[in-house]
Amino acid sequence: MPTPDTAAKTSKRHGDDITACIRASANGLGVDAFMQMAAAAYYAGAKPFGREGDFITSPEISQMFGEMIALWCADLWQQAGKPGQIMLAELGPGRGTLMADILRTARNWPDFQAALNVHLVETSPQLRKAQAAALDSIQPVWHDSVDTLPRDAFSLIISNEFFDALPICQLVWQGGAWQERCIVWDDAAGHPAFAVRPLADAALAAQVPQHIAPAEGDIFEISPASRAIARTLGTHIAKTGGACLAIDYGHARSACGDTLQAVSKHKYACVLENIGQQDITAHVDFAALALAAAGAGTQSWPVITQEKFLNSLGISARAEQLAQKATPQQRGQIPLDLHRLTAPSAMGSLFKAVCWTRAGDDIAPAGFQDQERG
Ligand code: SAH
Repeated sequence: MPTPDTAAKTSKRHGDDITACIRASANGLGVDAFMQMAAAAYYAGAKPFGREGDFITSPEISQMFGEMIALWCADLWQQAGKPGQIMLAELGPGRGTLMADILRTARNWPDFQAALNVHLVETSPQLRKAQAAALDSIQPVWHDSVDTLPRDAFSLIISNEFFDALPICQLVWQGGAWQERCIVWDDAAGHPAFAVRPLADAALAAQVPQHIAPAEGDIFEISPASRAIARTLGTHIAKTGGACLAIDYGHARSACGDTLQAVSKHKYACVLENIGQQDITAHVDFAALALAAAGAGTQSWPVITQEKFLNSLGISARAEQLAQKATPQQRGQIPLDLHRLTAPSAMGSLFKAVCWTRAGDDIAPAGFQDQERG
């Protein structure tokens, strides 16, 4: 990992490059291109996630999160007749905490543990190093994209806060047609600013769902990158069986709204300031992802909240069990962590889980099983 100083300098240098790019682009820089460059800059700086970093994710809050996902994976494997080989992939593993917790929990089921082959999809070289350190007892295989994940075994493909980092296009309804939001250089003000231009990819307008009835100025977000990945994952699961589980924040039904956001030091920040030095994300359109995956031969299970997902796997019982073995200080922290992960006022309701399984397979993913299949 770079030292914080070098990391900050790296991000700043990339940020300056992005600003130069905005100044040089005659038609403005699309929000998608901006996000892609800003994310690459930010993750190259490898600012720490976690309590001391810019934002904290569920696996970093508590080991219970990874334990529940391990349980979910082991249950599916059991339902599928305990295949001897499992391709377990995580997309965007951050510091590797979730996978480390899954592998530790997997020791409870030796046959499951023995079947696991771990693959990580990660573009940041700095984070790959952090993942290697967190997972030093195994030899994971890293991939630049989901395209190279092997399709020769029962597959469990998981992600937490991966899709929110992928670039979106922002369509703006103006004068009775969809235009595109972009970023231009405001010469008078001397800083970047949002503007509107004709759609760079006219085909995007046809991808807005029928039920959307925009008013003047409304924004509709489409993430072509996320949809392409969901399609690839759908094709993957349709071939190998198994499941894809994505946990992220977003909306279950496609809707208008500007959800582009920047977070720095646990606070919302201005998207166009400190470019490359803050985390830039957008809410995930789960309906669009499910649709893309379903086209490829998978069934998508209705989206459920993180609260429902974790509760149905027994996180409260696990919290009580942990509290019995904890130090007095930990004993106070465990209910707080549980609350943060599951309370609707914290991460319980904004964060959601979506799952795809192969069409026709007789498996019922835990937490989703009492929902009607899509
Ligand atoms: N899952 C982790 C980290 C979330 S942050 C956690 O919950 O703590 C997003 C992660 O996705 C980072 O690891 C980042 O480097 C990675 N990432 C972002 N864009 C990516 C892309 N296009 N391909 C692969 N990984 C990407």
